[in-house]
This record gives sequence, structure tokens and C-alpha cells, in this order.
Amino acid sequence: MDFLTLFAIYGIVVLGCILLMCTYTSQVETSLGRLGNFSTKVSSLFLPEWLQTTLRGAFHRLFHQQNRLFVALHFMLEAAVYGEFTFEVFGYCREMGFGINGLLWPYWLFAVKTYFFYRCSTKDPGTIKRSNHGQLLQVYPYDGLMFREATSCPTCEFVKPARSKHCWICNRCVHRFDHHCVWVNNCIGALNLKYFLAYLVTLTAAVASVTLLTGGLLLQAVLSSDLINATYIDNSGLTHPVGLLFIIQHLFLTFPRIVFMLGFLIFLFLLLVGYTFFHFYLSLSNKTSNEWYKLRSLVLCHHLHNSQGNIYFKGLVANLKEIFQPVNTSEKKSN
Ligand SMILES: [Zn+2]
Ligand SMILES: [Zn+2]
Repeated sequence: MDFLTLFAIYGIVVLGCILLMCTYTSQVETSLGRLGNFSTKVSSLFLPEWLQTTLRGAFHRLFHQQNRLFVALHFMLEAAVYGEFTFEVFGYCREMGFGINGLLWPYWLFAVKTYFFYRCSTKDPGTIKRSNHGQLLQVYPYDGLMFREATSCPTCEFVKPARSKHCWICNRCVHRFDHHCVWVNNCIGALNLKYFLAYLVTLTAAVASVTLLTGGLLLQAVLSSDLINATYIDNSGLTHPVGLLFIIQHLFLTFPRIVFMLGFLIFLFLLLVGYTFFHFYLSLSNKTSNEWYKLRSLVLCHHLHNSQGNIYFKGLVANLKEIFQPVNTSEKKSN
């Protein structure tokens, strides 16, 4: 089996998993939900009813109930990547003369990332309780658009402060609710958003460092073997220079695990960079993920101009300050 066939199988499996997740986990009102509805109809044509029910139940427990499975998965994935890096890449890099200081960067970043992960997953995101409810009502004004006065949470049985939302996975209302993150098994809210951002940045940097060293090792292997200048003879006896595809196939056959890991790392890095930029965009514009989605729906459904929607914008620096120094509950409403 050649590299491209293997890569195509890998891509189909990943896309299949994403489609399965859309089918059995998403909420109806989201884009993923609509995609999920469509794939539910398609899958019901060839999957028996009992299998659909089992899958729906398993994914519901996985995504819609609080559990530590994703935390365990997260650590297993890291153990696999760092194990492979330590036992194969690190040794080859040393043999090829890479400096020890550069090779230790992934480990430093791993330690810092793990600290922020711990803080993010254990810190209270801003649970609204009877004791702080009165104070939190004073923090943000109602914009009358996304958040309306006198809207009550039927579960917590109190009036919801502006920018709060009830997390139905954790079963609590959270102050300045952003989203529920399955990877850290916690809500992201006013009090732990700074740790979440720091976690995203350090995780992206850790992935980037392992990717660069692994890519550097493979590049060094190509350069030191002079593979770029190699030629091959075809069936007609003609000589051709080897192309990029040949080099990739050669590397895949020589270092299969390392090339597979590098492909995964590049994919993960691009995903993380996009997600991190998205969260910095939200932070700079003083929106939560929840508000971004609500505003987007309002713009789409009611043709509202985007700038009309966010009264919480205070300026770029002040917006960032609000995240790193969450609004004091004793501050008064600005209007
Ligand atoms: Zn609630
Ligand atoms: Zn939650």
C-alpha cells in the first residue's frame, strides 16, 4: 500500500468520525446540528435502529454529561506524541547534532501548558450562587438584545445576570459564560478564561516545537543523504530526478511512525492556531463564544448590523484587561 492510499484511508476515517459526532451529538439549532440532521437521515438508511440508538446513547454520555473521558484521551494522546518524540525523534536529533537546549523546549512548554490546563480545569469559572447572585446582577447591563432583564433560569430559580448562561452539562449558571470545554472538563467563564487562553497559547507552542523539531529531523535526513539530487531509471531505461512525492514516500517507508506523527501534528497545529486566533479575536472584541453565536444568529435572522449588537466593547486594551482582571463584582452598571 503506497503513501497516498494510506493517507486517503486516514482522511476518510477522520471525516467519518466527524460526521458520526455531528450525527449523534449536535444541537438542532447549530450548523453542525443541521449537518447532523442530514447525516442522521442518510445513516438511518443503512444502520439498524438498535445500532443508531446505541450510538446516540454513547455519544450523549460522552458529550452531554460531565465526564473525565476527554481529559484521559487528551493525556493518552500527549503520552503517545511525547513518547514517540522522546524515544525516536530526540535520539535521531542528538545523532544529527541538534543542540540539547533546543531539544528541551517541548518539555518546558509541556510543563507550562500542564500548569495552565490544571488551573483551567480546577478553577471555578464563575458559578452563580445565591450568595453572589445579587452582586453579579450589577456587573453587566442588559443589552435588551442577547440578554433581557427579568429572564429567569428555571433550574437555578433566579433572574439570570446579563452575559450569564446555564450550562446544562455542569447544571449551573455561569457568570460571563463562554462555553463548556470537554477537553478541560469544565465551563469556561469570567474567572478561568485567562487560564484557558494561556493554555491554548502554550499548547499551540508545544505542538509547534515538536512539529518543528520532527520536521527538522526529516529535512536533515533528506539533506544528509543527498536524496534531493538522486535519480531513478524508469521501465524505458530513461533517467529522471526524484520528485517531492518520491521523497515523501521514501521518508514514510524509512520513518513510518515519525511521518505519521508529523502529519497529525501539522493538522493539530493548524486547528489550534485557528482556534487560538478565534478566541483572541473574541477577547479583543469583548464577546464570548456564546455571544458570538447569538449575535451571528441575530445578524443572519434579523439583518442586524454587527456593530449594533455588542454594548460590552470598551476598547482593545480594556477588553483584554477585563479578562485578565475580571470585572469586580462591586462595580456598577455603566448604563
Ligand atoms: Zn441556571
Ligand atoms: Zn459546563
